[in-house]
Amino acid sequence: LFPYTTLFRLSNNWTDFLMKNIKTLPAGYQPSGTLLEARVILVTGAGDGIGRAAARSFAAHGATVILLGKTQEKLEQVYDEIIAEGHPEPLILMLDLQYLTPDSAKALTDTIEQELGRLDGILHNAALLGSVTPVANYSPERWQQVMQVNVHAAFLLTQTLMPLLAQAPDASIVFTTSSVGRQGRAFWGAYAVSKFAVEGLMETLADELEEVTAIRVNAINPGATRTRMRAAAYPGENPVTRPTADSLMPLYLYLMGPDSQGVSGYSFDAQPV
Ligand code: NDP
Repeated sequence: LFPYTTLFRLSNNWTDFLMKNIKTLPAGYQPSGTLLEARVILVTGAGDGIGRAAARSFAAHGATVILLGKTQEKLEQVYDEIIAEGHPEPLILMLDLQYLTPDSAKALTDTIEQELGRLDGILHNAALLGSVTPVANYSPERWQQVMQVNVHAAFLLTQTLMPLLAQAPDASIVFTTSSVGRQGRAFWGAYAVSKFAVEGLMETLADELEEVTAIRVNAINPGATRTRMRAAAYPGENPVTRPTADSLMPLYLYLMGPDSQGVSGYSFDAQPV
């Protein structure tokens, strides 16, 4: 038998190992009002929830935002809000990531290049929750949909847009992860598996790009946040007990803007887990 102190030390080391790449926003961080001036940033799933808050926040800090999503009315509403607030005019890209192919990703890249001429950042935010059900019962079709939207589309967009990003002085790619992408949890099925894959994609890409480009690559786990997806996953929860998407924006700004230059390969928590 191990003495208690040895066990304690082992479990601490194990925790350190598991948490090795998890970071939080530097204490006291304050983004400047012009943090993202002249930058072009693509936000997927920009019509609702965290993506909508991020698009508005990036625009409020000077960015021209590309609003990618699948529901036109929602994207137009975010567009109108950004214009009404007097920020740079966004570009709407209507696209259902469920059907993204190498060809449509290439067409999207060409549109961005022609319309805006540059790209400084991508926030991969769009995701499907899928079914909350045991793996034994999981619909294979639904599994594939979730993996397509949450992982494959992010991979395809990143791969196709990388040459454009590489021309920017300090581009940033931010993926969106989840606590269930670090520790599997019963019934979270394809969603959990997709977020493990997102963490792996982030780490692999960050390692590949470290020496060869100025592109930094990180991931954010927003934590429980008051959105439509959270309400779908926890229908019995009172939404006001959870923070708003707007309250998480300092971390999103930090990672998208130049203050995070040199920071790459990390998974961040936006809230205490
Ligand atoms: P929401 O469901 O509120 O918003 C998701 C957005 O993604 C919507 O704008 C939605 O578009 C878009 N989207 C979904 N599927 C597609 C698709 N096929 N093509 C294009 N756009 C699509 O989710 P949240 O804001 O809560 O989540 C944002 C991110 O944060 C996700 O990656 C999620 O996994 C992650 N996250 C969220 C947490 C939370 O507590 N909210 C906790 C941990 C992680 P439309 O509105 O048109 O359907």
